Amino acid sequence: MIRVRGLAVRYPRAARPVLDGLDLDVGPGEHVLLLGPSGAGKSTVLRVLAGIVPQSIGAQADGQARVAGLEVLGPGPVVDVPTLAMRVGTLTQDPVDQLVLPTVLDEVAFPLENRRAPRHEIGPRVERALRLVGAGGLIGRRTSELSGGEGQRVALAATLVADPHVLLLDEPTALLDPVGTRQVAAAARAAAQGRASVLVEHRLDEIGALPPRVVVLDERGRVRVDGPTRVVLDER
Ligand code: ADP
Ligand code: ADP
Repeated sequence: MIRVRGLAVRYPRAARPVLDGLDLDVGPGEHVLLLGPSGAGKSTVLRVLAGIVPQSIGAQADGQARVAGLEVLGPGPVVDVPTLAMRVGTLTQDPVDQLVLPTVLDEVAFPLENRRAPRHEIGPRVERALRLVGAGGLIGRRTSELSGGEGQRVALAATLVADPHVLLLDEPTALLDPVGTRQVAAAARAAAQGRASVLVEHRLDEIGALPPRVVVLDERGRVRVDGPTRVVLDER
Protein backbone atom coordinates (compact mmCIF):
# COMPACT_ATOMS: atom_id res chain seq x y z
CA MET A 1 0.00 0.00 0.00
CA ILE A 2 2.86 2.36 0.88
CA ARG A 3 6.38 1.92 -0.44
CA VAL A 4 9.02 4.58 0.18
CA ARG A 5 12.64 4.25 -0.99
CA GLY A 6 15.55 6.58 -0.34
CA LEU A 7 13.42 9.56 0.63
CA ALA A 8 15.20 12.84 1.36
CA VAL A 9 13.54 16.27 1.22
CA ARG A 10 15.13 19.69 1.09
CA TYR A 11 12.93 22.66 1.92
CA PRO A 12 13.77 26.04 0.41
CA ARG A 13 16.42 27.90 2.40
CA ALA A 14 16.94 24.95 4.79
CA ALA A 15 20.53 24.24 5.78
CA ARG A 16 20.28 20.47 5.44
CA PRO A 17 17.84 17.92 4.06
CA VAL A 18 15.04 16.44 6.13
CA LEU A 19 15.07 12.61 6.26
CA ASP A 20 18.12 10.72 5.13
CA GLY A 21 17.21 8.15 2.53
CA LEU A 22 14.14 6.86 4.38
CA ASP A 23 12.72 3.44 3.44
CA LEU A 24 9.22 2.48 4.62
CA ASP A 25 6.75 -0.23 3.65
CA VAL A 26 3.19 -0.44 4.95
CA GLY A 27 1.01 -3.32 3.77
CA PRO A 28 -2.74 -3.37 3.09
CA GLY A 29 -4.70 -3.06 6.34
CA GLU A 30 -1.53 -2.42 8.32
CA HIS A 31 -1.50 0.35 10.96
CA VAL A 32 1.69 2.20 11.80
CA LEU A 33 2.46 4.69 14.55
CA LEU A 34 5.22 7.06 13.41
CA LEU A 35 7.27 8.49 16.28
CA GLY A 36 10.42 10.57 16.61
CA PRO A 37 11.71 13.85 18.02
CA SER A 38 10.26 17.14 16.85
CA GLY A 39 11.82 18.10 13.52
CA ALA A 40 12.68 14.50 12.59
CA GLY A 41 10.51 14.75 9.48
CA LYS A 42 7.36 12.84 10.47
CA SER A 43 4.98 15.40 8.98
CA THR A 44 7.20 15.60 5.92
CA VAL A 45 6.78 11.86 5.31
CA LEU A 46 2.99 12.27 5.43
CA ARG A 47 3.13 15.33 3.16
CA VAL A 48 5.13 13.36 0.58
CA LEU A 49 2.63 10.48 0.74
CA ALA A 50 -0.25 12.96 0.35
CA GLY A 51 1.37 14.47 -2.76
CA ILE A 52 1.85 17.88 -1.08
CA VAL A 53 5.68 17.77 -0.89
CA PRO A 54 7.55 18.56 -3.04
CA GLN A 55 4.83 19.74 -5.46
CA SER A 56 2.93 22.39 -3.50
CA ILE A 57 5.67 23.75 -1.27
CA GLY A 58 8.37 23.94 -3.92
CA ALA A 59 10.68 21.69 -1.92
CA GLN A 60 13.15 19.28 -3.55
CA ALA A 61 12.79 15.56 -2.95
CA ASP A 62 14.92 12.54 -3.81
CA GLY A 63 13.81 8.95 -3.79
CA GLN A 64 10.67 7.10 -4.74
CA ALA A 65 7.27 6.75 -3.14
CA ARG A 66 4.14 4.86 -4.18
CA VAL A 67 0.83 4.96 -2.34
CA ALA A 68 -2.23 2.84 -3.14
CA GLY A 69 -0.77 1.94 -6.52
CA LEU A 70 -0.01 5.54 -7.48
CA GLU A 71 3.42 7.10 -7.94
CA VAL A 72 3.77 10.22 -5.73
CA LEU A 73 7.53 10.61 -6.04
CA GLY A 74 9.89 9.22 -8.64
CA PRO A 75 11.86 9.86 -11.76
CA GLY A 76 8.81 9.76 -14.04
CA PRO A 77 5.51 11.66 -14.01
CA VAL A 78 3.70 11.60 -10.67
CA VAL A 79 -0.01 11.44 -9.96
CA ASP A 80 -2.02 14.65 -9.57
CA VAL A 81 -3.38 15.46 -6.11
CA PRO A 82 -7.12 15.17 -6.96
CA THR A 83 -6.60 11.62 -8.27
CA LEU A 84 -4.49 10.74 -5.25
CA ALA A 85 -7.15 12.17 -2.90
CA MET A 86 -9.60 9.54 -4.14
CA ARG A 87 -7.43 6.78 -2.69
CA VAL A 88 -5.55 8.49 0.10
CA GLY A 89 -7.29 10.32 2.97
CA THR A 90 -5.30 12.89 4.91
CA LEU A 91 -5.99 14.64 8.17
CA THR A 92 -3.63 17.47 9.11
CA GLN A 93 -2.73 18.86 12.53
CA ASP A 94 -5.45 21.46 12.18
CA PRO A 95 -8.25 19.55 10.47
CA VAL A 96 -10.78 22.31 11.13
CA ASP A 97 -8.88 24.30 8.49
CA GLN A 98 -10.00 21.65 6.03
CA LEU A 99 -13.65 22.66 6.49
CA VAL A 100 -14.48 25.21 3.82
CA LEU A 101 -18.18 24.75 2.98
CA PRO A 102 -21.17 26.23 4.86
CA THR A 103 -22.74 23.08 6.31
CA VAL A 104 -21.60 19.67 7.50
CA LEU A 105 -23.72 18.03 4.82
CA ASP A 106 -22.08 20.13 2.06
CA GLU A 107 -18.64 19.43 3.45
CA VAL A 108 -18.94 15.65 3.66
CA ALA A 109 -20.87 15.41 0.37
CA PHE A 110 -18.28 17.45 -1.53
CA PRO A 111 -15.74 14.68 -2.22
CA LEU A 112 -18.54 12.54 -3.67
CA GLU A 113 -20.02 15.35 -5.78
CA ASN A 114 -16.54 16.13 -7.00
CA ARG A 115 -16.22 12.53 -8.19
CA ARG A 116 -19.69 12.66 -9.73
CA ALA A 117 -21.03 9.88 -7.53
CA PRO A 118 -24.68 9.03 -8.38
CA ARG A 119 -27.01 11.47 -6.58
CA HIS A 120 -28.97 8.77 -4.73
CA GLU A 121 -25.76 7.38 -3.20
CA ILE A 122 -24.55 10.65 -1.75
CA GLY A 123 -26.95 11.08 1.19
CA PRO A 124 -26.55 7.54 2.56
CA ARG A 125 -22.77 7.62 2.19
CA VAL A 126 -22.54 10.98 3.99
CA GLU A 127 -24.67 9.64 6.84
CA ARG A 128 -22.60 6.45 7.09
CA ALA A 129 -19.29 8.38 7.23
CA LEU A 130 -20.61 10.73 9.93
CA ARG A 131 -21.98 7.84 11.98
CA LEU A 132 -18.66 6.00 11.78
CA VAL A 133 -16.91 8.88 13.55
CA GLY A 134 -19.70 9.45 16.07
CA ALA A 135 -20.96 12.61 14.37
CA GLY A 136 -24.30 11.42 12.97
CA GLY A 137 -26.12 14.19 14.82
CA LEU A 138 -24.09 16.97 13.21
CA ILE A 139 -25.33 16.61 9.63
CA GLY A 140 -27.51 19.73 9.67
CA ARG A 141 -25.04 21.99 11.49
CA ARG A 142 -23.09 24.94 10.10
CA THR A 143 -19.36 24.18 9.90
CA SER A 144 -18.48 27.61 11.33
CA GLU A 145 -20.39 26.79 14.52
CA LEU A 146 -18.74 23.46 15.32
CA SER A 147 -16.49 22.99 18.35
CA GLY A 148 -12.91 21.90 17.73
CA GLY A 149 -13.72 18.27 18.47
CA GLU A 150 -16.85 18.29 16.31
CA GLY A 151 -14.89 19.92 13.49
CA GLN A 152 -12.19 17.27 13.71
CA ARG A 153 -14.78 14.52 13.47
CA VAL A 154 -16.46 16.15 10.49
CA ALA A 155 -13.07 16.56 8.77
CA LEU A 156 -12.42 12.87 9.43
CA ALA A 157 -15.81 11.95 7.96
CA ALA A 158 -15.09 14.08 4.88
CA THR A 159 -11.82 12.18 4.52
CA LEU A 160 -13.49 8.80 4.86
CA VAL A 161 -16.52 9.33 2.68
CA ALA A 162 -14.53 8.72 -0.50
CA ASP A 163 -13.47 5.34 0.94
CA PRO A 164 -9.69 5.82 0.74
CA HIS A 165 -7.39 2.79 0.77
CA VAL A 166 -4.85 4.64 2.90
CA LEU A 167 -5.36 7.01 5.83
CA LEU A 168 -2.65 9.50 6.86
CA LEU A 169 -3.27 11.12 10.24
CA ASP A 170 -0.96 13.88 11.46
CA GLU A 171 -1.69 14.48 15.16
CA PRO A 172 -5.43 14.55 14.51
CA THR A 173 -6.21 15.23 18.17
CA ALA A 174 -3.66 18.00 18.67
CA LEU A 175 -6.21 20.69 19.47
CA LEU A 176 -8.49 18.71 21.74
CA ASP A 177 -9.01 18.37 25.47
CA PRO A 178 -8.57 14.89 27.00
CA VAL A 179 -12.18 13.85 26.46
CA GLY A 180 -12.25 15.08 22.85
CA THR A 181 -8.88 13.43 22.27
CA ARG A 182 -10.15 10.03 23.34
CA GLN A 183 -13.27 10.42 21.24
CA VAL A 184 -11.51 11.49 18.05
CA ALA A 185 -8.78 8.86 18.57
CA ALA A 186 -11.50 6.21 18.82
CA ALA A 187 -13.12 7.61 15.68
CA ALA A 188 -9.75 7.44 13.92
CA ARG A 189 -9.36 3.81 14.98
CA ALA A 190 -12.79 2.96 13.64
CA ALA A 191 -11.97 4.82 10.44
CA ALA A 192 -8.69 2.95 9.99
CA GLN A 193 -10.30 -0.49 10.03
CA GLY A 194 -9.80 -2.23 6.71
CA ARG A 195 -7.40 0.43 5.40
CA ALA A 196 -3.67 1.01 5.75
CA SER A 197 -2.92 3.88 8.13
CA VAL A 198 0.00 5.95 9.33
CA LEU A 199 -0.55 7.94 12.51
CA VAL A 200 1.81 10.63 13.82
CA GLU A 201 0.97 11.19 17.47
CA HIS A 202 3.01 11.86 20.57
CA ARG A 203 0.30 11.95 23.25
CA LEU A 204 0.43 8.19 23.56
CA ASP A 205 -1.05 8.01 27.04
CA GLU A 206 -4.13 9.95 26.02
CA ILE A 207 -5.36 8.28 22.84
CA GLY A 208 -6.15 4.77 24.10
CA ALA A 209 -5.23 1.75 21.97
CA LEU A 210 -2.20 2.29 19.73
CA PRO A 211 -1.56 0.99 16.21
CA PRO A 212 0.17 -2.41 16.47
CA ARG A 213 3.39 -1.43 14.66
CA VAL A 214 5.66 1.50 15.50
CA VAL A 215 8.38 3.15 13.42
CA VAL A 216 10.66 5.47 15.39
CA LEU A 217 12.77 8.05 13.55
CA ASP A 218 15.88 9.62 15.05
CA GLU A 219 16.55 13.37 14.94
CA ARG A 220 17.98 13.09 11.41
CA GLY A 221 14.98 11.20 10.12
CA ARG A 222 16.54 7.74 9.93
CA VAL A 223 14.56 4.70 11.05
CA ARG A 224 15.89 3.83 14.50
CA VAL A 225 13.36 1.13 15.42
CA ASP A 226 10.61 -0.64 13.52
CA GLY A 227 8.63 -3.27 15.39
CA PRO A 228 5.60 -4.27 17.45
CA THR A 229 4.38 -1.25 19.44
CA ARG A 230 3.99 -3.16 22.69
CA VAL A 231 7.54 -4.55 22.59
CA VAL A 232 9.19 -1.32 21.41
CA LEU A 233 7.44 0.99 23.87
CA ASP A 234 8.07 -1.38 26.79
CA GLU A 235 11.79 -1.17 26.10
CA ARG A 236 11.88 2.62 26.13
P1 ADP B 1 8.23 16.52 12.55
O1 ADP B 1 6.86 16.30 12.02
O2 ADP B 1 8.98 15.25 12.84
O3 ADP B 1 8.29 17.46 13.72
P2 ADP B 1 8.60 18.06 10.11
O4 ADP B 1 8.46 17.13 8.98
O5 ADP B 1 7.44 18.93 10.47
O6 ADP B 1 9.10 17.23 11.40
O7 ADP B 1 9.82 19.01 9.88
C1 ADP B 1 11.14 18.52 9.64
C2 ADP B 1 12.08 19.71 9.45
O8 ADP B 1 11.72 20.41 8.27
C3 ADP B 1 12.04 20.72 10.58
O9 ADP B 1 13.33 21.19 10.79
C4 ADP B 1 11.16 21.81 10.03
O10 ADP B 1 11.49 23.04 10.60
C5 ADP B 1 11.47 21.77 8.55
N1 ADP B 1 10.31 22.21 7.73
C6 ADP B 1 9.07 21.66 7.73
N2 ADP B 1 8.26 22.26 6.85
C7 ADP B 1 9.00 23.24 6.25
C8 ADP B 1 8.73 24.22 5.24
N3 ADP B 1 7.54 24.31 4.64
N4 ADP B 1 9.75 25.05 4.90
C9 ADP B 1 10.96 24.96 5.49
N5 ADP B 1 11.28 24.07 6.44
C10 ADP B 1 10.31 23.20 6.83
P1 ADP C 1 -7.61 -5.16 13.46
O1 ADP C 1 -6.79 -6.39 13.31
O2 ADP C 1 -8.87 -5.33 14.26
O3 ADP C 1 -7.83 -4.39 12.19
P2 ADP C 1 -5.19 -4.03 14.37
O4 ADP C 1 -4.54 -5.27 14.90
O5 ADP C 1 -4.76 -3.49 13.08
O6 ADP C 1 -6.77 -4.19 14.38
O7 ADP C 1 -5.08 -2.90 15.47
C1 ADP C 1 -4.73 -3.22 16.81
C2 ADP C 1 -5.06 -2.03 17.69
O8 ADP C 1 -4.51 -0.81 17.15
C3 ADP C 1 -6.54 -1.85 17.75
O9 ADP C 1 -6.92 -1.51 19.07
C4 ADP C 1 -6.77 -0.71 16.81
O10 ADP C 1 -7.96 -0.03 17.16
C5 ADP C 1 -5.54 0.15 17.03
N1 ADP C 1 -5.32 1.03 15.87
C6 ADP C 1 -5.28 0.67 14.58
N2 ADP C 1 -5.11 1.76 13.80
C7 ADP C 1 -5.04 2.82 14.59
C8 ADP C 1 -4.87 4.23 14.38
N3 ADP C 1 -4.75 4.76 13.16
N4 ADP C 1 -4.82 5.02 15.45
C9 ADP C 1 -4.92 4.50 16.69
N5 ADP C 1 -5.08 3.19 16.95
C10 ADP C 1 -5.14 2.36 15.93
